[in-house]
Amino acid sequence: MRLETLAVHSGAQADEETGALSPPLHLATTFLHAPDGTQDHGYLYQRYGNPTQHRLEQALAALDAGERALFVSTGMAAASTMLQALPSGSQVVFQDDLYHGVRALAQQWLPRWGLRARFVDATDLDALREAVTPDTSCLWIESPSNPLMKVVDIAAAAGVAHEVGALLVVDGTFATPALQQPLTLGADVVMHSATKYMGGHSDVMGGALVFARDAEHANSAWEIRKLHGATANPFAAWLVMRGLRSLSARMRMHCENAAIVAQALARHPGVEAVHYPGLDSHPGHTLAARQMRGFGGMLSVQVHGGREKALHVAGTLQLFQCATSLGGCESLVEHRASVEGPEPTSPQNLLRLSVGLEHPEDLVADLERALA
Ligand SMILES: *Cc1c(COP(=O)(O)O)cnc(C)c1O
Repeated sequence: MRLETLAVHSGAQADEETGALSPPLHLATTFLHAPDGTQDHGYLYQRYGNPTQHRLEQALAALDAGERALFVSTGMAAASTMLQALPSGSQVVFQDDLYHGVRALAQQWLPRWGLRARFVDATDLDALREAVTPDTSCLWIESPSNPLMKVVDIAAAAGVAHEVGALLVVDGTFATPALQQPLTLGADVVMHSATKYMGGHSDVMGGALVFARDAEHANSAWEIRKLHGATANPFAAWLVMRGLRSLSARMRMHCENAAIVAQALARHPGVEAVHYPGLDSHPGHTLAARQMRGFGGMLSVQVHGGREKALHVAGTLQLFQCATSLGGCESLVEHRASVEGPEPTSPQNLLRLSVGLEHPEDLVADLERALA
């Protein structure tokens, strides 16, 4: 079945007891078992696994073409669960343009877990090859990346990782499985912040790990979720599952709107650079066209006039509201350097846009007024 069909039907079998088409929300923390502990119904305790989450995990595995999926409380819980599943003493190679929370984990916490972090420009395959060693257990990339929208060749990165026996993990939050399926390109694990497009309505947090193979690292991640308690509330699983039903339709419109916004910005004299993989001028355009079904709803723009002008534009926009996060129906703008902590890595004149589902001409008019 194709993705649009899977998004509507995976994990969506009618409730056997009532015939309800909308999946039941099971809030139970504990489940009946036999006196000797046999799990008659397949569940023991909510933190280990629960029926609502199980349905969502079936859908997540199907959408990303994986053998197994784990849903956890947040995207960061997914990242730390995966990283903690890696063998102590090993090296993890991260892409340099990286979600700032994962960067903070890598820099501040990996050493405490006995892991060494190294950063590399993953768009440069020679640099990538040079960075991995036989001690590398994991290569961690983001494509498209946050916030510079760099596009990494996932199949080539998988080749580099596998040469040294490392796993390739792809943070696929910006693309979602509707636009990109890293496991079909050779990645071993795809990680998502389900808080973003999967939930899609800025009202639920969640994270996912989808594994190409139900292998040892998938079991370790399952154990870590259980023991560290990263399990999500079943209501969060239920809301993310509802979001998945409309994911492909929403992503199509996010892509259309973002393309119109990106083109309008690229023409504007007040703009220094637009980072959107859908533009011919983007260095990763050809690659993105090959490995993605669409270019997504995220873009970033560098304005003439530095930090001051960027802050002025963000403050003048009306439809694009100043808020962090992304992937909801409403358009958002954020001056990333201001929210990245004491050592920001984003350029000071950069604004990140999450292009929502409003009419694209209203969004363009809003930007043109603010840039004037
Ligand atoms: C938001 C985000 C995360 C973290 O997810 P949370 O759900 O906020 O914990 C990780 N990676 C990317 C690319 C993100 O945008």
